[in-house]
Amino acid sequence: MAEYHIIMRISSLFALFLAFAAPVLAEGLPELGDTAQLALTPQMERRVGESIMLDIRQHDPAFDDDPEATEYLNVLGNRLVSNSQDARQDFEFFLEKDPMLNAFALPGGYIGVNTGTIVNAQSESELAAVLAHEIAHVTQHHMARMASNDGKLSTAALAAMVVAILARNSQAGSAAAAIGQAGAITAQIGFTREYEREADRIGFQTLEKSGFDVRAMPSFFERLQKAGRLYENNAPAYLRTHPVTTERIADAQNRIQGLPYKQVPDSLYFQLVRAKLRAGQGTPSDALAQLQSDLREKKYSNETAARYGLATALLRAQQPDRAAAELDPLLKTVAHPMLAGLAARIKQAKGDTKGALGVLQQALVRYPNNRALNYACIEALQQLGQNHDAVALLDEQLKNYPRDARLYALQAKGYASLGKRLLQHQAQAEAYVLQGSLPAAIEQLQLAQKSGDGDFYQLSSVDARLRDLRRRLAQEMKEKKENKGLLQSEGIRPLTLP
Ligand SMILES: [Zn+2]
Repeated sequence: MAEYHIIMRISSLFALFLAFAAPVLAEGLPELGDTAQLALTPQMERRVGESIMLDIRQHDPAFDDDPEATEYLNVLGNRLVSNSQDARQDFEFFLEKDPMLNAFALPGGYIGVNTGTIVNAQSESELAAVLAHEIAHVTQHHMARMASNDGKLSTAALAAMVVAILARNSQAGSAAAAIGQAGAITAQIGFTREYEREADRIGFQTLEKSGFDVRAMPSFFERLQKAGRLYENNAPAYLRTHPVTTERIADAQNRIQGLPYKQVPDSLYFQLVRAKLRAGQGTPSDALAQLQSDLREKKYSNETAARYGLATALLRAQQPDRAAAELDPLLKTVAHPMLAGLAARIKQAKGDTKGALGVLQQALVRYPNNRALNYACIEALQQLGQNHDAVALLDEQLKNYPRDARLYALQAKGYASLGKRLLQHQAQAEAYVLQGSLPAAIEQLQLAQKSGDGDFYQLSSVDARLRDLRRRLAQEMKEKKENKGLLQSEGIRPLTLP
């Protein structure tokens, strides 16, 4: 049900994309590699991606905002971006809690990665290969090019494709069929193969420049192909959107021919994130049993990560004492912000918030900009009623990350505890803006106006922001109305699913 919901919302958002794409249809076909002719500018792509992203954050039950894993994904992703065809473009990498292997690119640099992709990656280079391929879809503007191809067929195909990319269960097929005509879907596979080839080629260059093991690409494809044969109708979603053909495997193998052998060790960061995600899969007792048996049979590539994973699973199974016993020896030998984060969570679970705060503050001396540690520290301060300290830390963090909705939500909570009502509603309004909910933000600013505890300057800043947001909301409503008409004139039926 929830998945249908997001499909419906995304398809209506995609009308916005179609509206931007429409003018280019009359201008003929741009050549592969030539983006100058695309009427869909990078700014427009970004806006489309942003809208879809907001929807995912709000409505996608699989959206996973784990700050540690998300930060890792962005560190890895941005390392690849800096060696890509367009290092200036902003990228945002996000996690979807889904054991199926999949990754997808939205227009404008938003790249989603299923937790299953990280859990099943046999090396960091394999995960990097998947990301490099998705980055190439973005830097080569494949979405915009699909929209710029000929007329109606491609707009329908495009809408169908996005639905197919984002749908994660077997009913996805029927959802895609409902939105696009059968012919459009077939055509979409044709487009996709051409772009897949290009994304493989460009992604390979990025992978090599970034210093990863390029052999990871063909080996990953081969494993996928085997998995596809194994599962038949229940193949990993990645295979539906990125069909692995013998040709793709052969191309990848040709590219590594003659390249010198290069051993690239996995980073501890990668191994810890993979262990954490493993510990989060399935039921707590299944995950715990799995990690215990892996450790017993020495089925791991890094013992620290394996023990960290076990400690995480123990905590998840509500055994904080055993988790602490597993983690303590690691803390004495290895320094990593994720180990400190887990140590703090274990203390929290034992009701020792003060102890947790101590661990976090000590870790922040060494890793002052680590977002996960900062969130946890702010929350611990708030729980202990140290609201002035919490607000000070929040102000500092908001200077570094002014588009972080979670920080604004924590700030609103902090101001509420301090009895500062105007500031509370103002902060909550910014959290809602960043979550894409303008009406809720406007409501908060109206509450801020009536709070009765603001000075002249604070009130004028609330008034100005309110005017700004009302204008934005009016513009959004207008676009929505126009796009609805456009969808109908393009002959694309809106989805009506149970
Ligand atoms: Zn692809």
